[in-house]
Amino acid sequence: MKKRLTTYFFLIAALGIALSSAFGVWSYREREVAYARQTLSELLSLMDAQAYDTDPEGWTDQLRRAAPDKRLTIIAPDGAVLADTYGEVEENHADRPEFQQALETGWGEAQRESETTGETLLYEAKRFSDGNVGRISMAISSVNALALRGLAGFLAAAAAALALMRLLARKLADKTAQPLEERREALEEAGEKLQTVRSEFAANVSHELKTPLTSIKGFTDMLSSGMVKDPEDQKRFITMIGVEVDRLIELINDVLKISELESVAMPQPDEHADVLEAAREAGSYLEQAARDAQVALRVSGEKVQAPVSPGRLRELFLNLMENGVKYNRPGGRVDVAVKKKDGWAVITVKDTGIGIPPESQERVFERFYRVDKGRDRKTGGTGLGLAIVKHIVLLYGGRIRLESAPGRGTAFTVELPADSGA
Ligand code: ADP
Repeated sequence: MKKRLTTYFFLIAALGIALSSAFGVWSYREREVAYARQTLSELLSLMDAQAYDTDPEGWTDQLRRAAPDKRLTIIAPDGAVLADTYGEVEENHADRPEFQQALETGWGEAQRESETTGETLLYEAKRFSDGNVGRISMAISSVNALALRGLAGFLAAAAAALALMRLLARKLADKTAQPLEERREALEEAGEKLQTVRSEFAANVSHELKTPLTSIKGFTDMLSSGMVKDPEDQKRFITMIGVEVDRLIELINDVLKISELESVAMPQPDEHADVLEAAREAGSYLEQAARDAQVALRVSGEKVQAPVSPGRLRELFLNLMENGVKYNRPGGRVDVAVKKKDGWAVITVKDTGIGIPPESQERVFERFYRVDKGRDRKTGGTGLGLAIVKHIVLLYGGRIRLESAPGRGTAFTVELPADSGA
């Protein structure tokens, strides 16, 4: 990539230099032509200043010696050539444009091929004080030669500029490519990380599946071996198999929910839920479990409407409230409150349970993270509940935080954008 960028930058710079050099050479030549014309005019003015009367022979003679590369022609007002540095000229010059112009205005100029020599010449003509016209010319090729000498300087400067440009282009390409390459590396790293997270997830799921399956296998082996003869024991074993199967189903359901939330879930524009209503539904669902655990479960608050799927909101409440009941003690409480504040539906689920140690408070939202592995698996959770809750909250643009004191209880606060006016 760097190489390609260097080439692009260099080509752009080279084109710029070529264009500016071409313009430079052109304007340089124009300036040389202007200088040459000025010199010719000055010579004519000098001659005119020498005397009132033209001295054709004397002046042509003078110029022939002083500037052999220039031609002087003295022309009478009728076009007859009075003298010429090139020798005798028979031809009448009345039709020459520079001559006509000088007669009319005092000065004339032209650039054309000389009929006498065939060369392209620059002509300057002046009407002298006595009415004769002095015309002086020089070959354009000598102006070109001057311009060419200048061109060499331009080329050298352009070559130096190009060399500098190459250096700068490489530097610029390095600078441009660097953040892009860093981004690519970051993406590759993120990709690898995602891959690791996925493999870890797969390993965790397999591990979680293995535990209940091993128990089921143990129970069925015992039953089929005929060792368990007492019908009551057999019933107990079959019930235990049922419990493990339920656990498997719960786990698989949670894994499916996580996968859906992670890869396909999108908020739908027509989704709306009554937040308090969803909390009440989850409360009635958990009524029996709370009673069994001797935990008082209360739901209160105001009616708030939020652009959230009612099913997902119920799921969120079920997970938070079930945890409040599960990680509690007999005689404890779980209080759920719903209110509206500054356009947000604010949900708090507060329990008087065992609390979460500070070092685990960040991690409880990770998949399969449990504070106390042995105990928490026995309480029946999958370790995916809070991960699901967090995904739901993020899906709808909300926020979640927790405050907890070990031994005293935990409070989860969820804020979801509320429907305006609801
Ligand atoms: P689980 O299915 O194990 O309950 P969660 O993802 O819902 O999984 O919770 C992760 C862990 O966080 C739990 O195993 C438990 O250790 C801890 N935890 C969650 N909620 C509470 C709570 N209200 N009080 C104390 N600990 C909790």
